[in-house]
Amino acid sequence: MLISLIIPIYNEQPGLAQLWQTLAEILNNCEQKFEVILVDDGSTDKSWQSITALTHTDSDAVRVYGLRLSRNFGKEAAILAGLHQASGNAAIVMDADLQHPPSMIPQMLSIWDNGKVEIVEAVKRRRQNESLLHRFSAKLYYRTFNLSSGLNIGDSSDFKLLDRRVVDQYIALPEVGRYFRGLTAWLGFHAVAMEFDPPQRQIGRSRWSIGKLLDLARSSIISFSSLPLRSLTWLGGLGVLFSIGFTLQTLWYKWQGFAEEGFPTVILLILGMGSMTLLGLGLIGEYIAEIYWEVKHRPSYIISQSIAPSCSSNQEESDSHDQIKSGHST
Ligand code: UDP
Ligand code: MG
Repeated sequence: MLISLIIPIYNEQPGLAQLWQTLAEILNNCEQKFEVILVDDGSTDKSWQSITALTHTDSDAVRVYGLRLSRNFGKEAAILAGLHQASGNAAIVMDADLQHPPSMIPQMLSIWDNGKVEIVEAVKRRRQNESLLHRFSAKLYYRTFNLSSGLNIGDSSDFKLLDRRVVDQYIALPEVGRYFRGLTAWLGFHAVAMEFDPPQRQIGRSRWSIGKLLDLARSSIISFSSLPLRSLTWLGGLGVLFSIGFTLQTLWYKWQGFAEEGFPTVILLILGMGSMTLLGLGLIGEYIAEIYWEVKHRPSYIISQSIAPSCSSNQEESDSHDQIKSGHST
């Protein structure tokens, strides 16, 4: 049995040695063979040099591949690049910062049990060390996502084991913009959750700013649900009911011989209707933007360099000039 381990890496050079030390010890004690695919997502530090060095330390039981993306395409694209490369019977996706404890891998593999369970997902038990605002917004986001998409991604993380069948289905999906957590839930399959307490990041810092998180929330909800768009119809319907009421009232006043003074009412109505219309247009714009990026069908990522394990017979090291692979998701 070969297990692929996919690790997206973005400016993680200071922590890679510790990651490898922890990981190698655990993997060497498992009975399965591993291929570790380290995907450098356009790091600007020396992560790629460290990855190159790691590809020389591999053994027969633990092979190490390095993939370097031509620029920073984002974690989702890096995960997809790794999954395209993976040839194992199962693939495990995990972060490079040890916030996804490698010590859980043996238990994940025993739950997977050679394909009896198709997805094993690590679910965050509690969000300690996070501010009240962060926890509240996370809860609000998951509620909104679950409600609008009809999927339950709970408090799940990107730390998941996917059986080969799931990996094949995932990479066969046609969309360019990916949301790993949502899509694995959308694919279905038999999933078992494993709870864990995410430790704090020891080295480096999280790449997620508030802006990036909001953007992820926006794009994930829009790409998984047409509910916001359809809610415009309901809002429009409500507006029609209101306008019928007001029309009748105005006509009634006119027939009675006294016109309503109501100048403030007119102003309020114009402002209200104007902003509602703009909001609706904005929402439609969001969906059009999503369609715009999808129909271009640009690759999700571009590989500029790849390194196969030094111990494998078909060792290859290619650079951007002789081989540029692109990650079309079809
Ligand atoms: N990462 C990546 N590309 C990016 C941002 C992050 O490959 O553009 C990787 C990063 O190196 C790490 C994982 O994704 O291995 C999770 O990133 P981070 O720790 O910043 O996220 P958080 O744990 O705060 O969700
Ligand atoms: Mg992290």
